[in-house]
Amino acid sequence: MTENKTVPETVVDPVCGKTIDPRKVQFTAKDDKGTHYFCSDKCLRRFDTADAKTKKGFWERYTDRLKKTHCTQTPPECR
Ligand SMILES: [Zn+2]
Repeated sequence: MTENKTVPETVVDPVCGKTIDPRKVQFTAKDDKGTHYFCSDKCLRRFDTADAKTKKGFWERYTDRLKKTHCTQTPPECR
């Protein structure tokens, strides 16, 4: 069960930006960036069928959301 330590408590769905629990989610995809989690098979399919440019857009939004999530937890460090 030590493997659980590598799973973060929450992850962000790169397609819709929802925060989800990776332990409850059933929709995942793997690529060179690692494992990605999706709230629904709709989002998974959107990610799967996206071209490289669209995917890049997903990732920009994704990292943006992560930063914002981090900021709400530790506001002073973000200013
Ligand atoms: Zn989603």
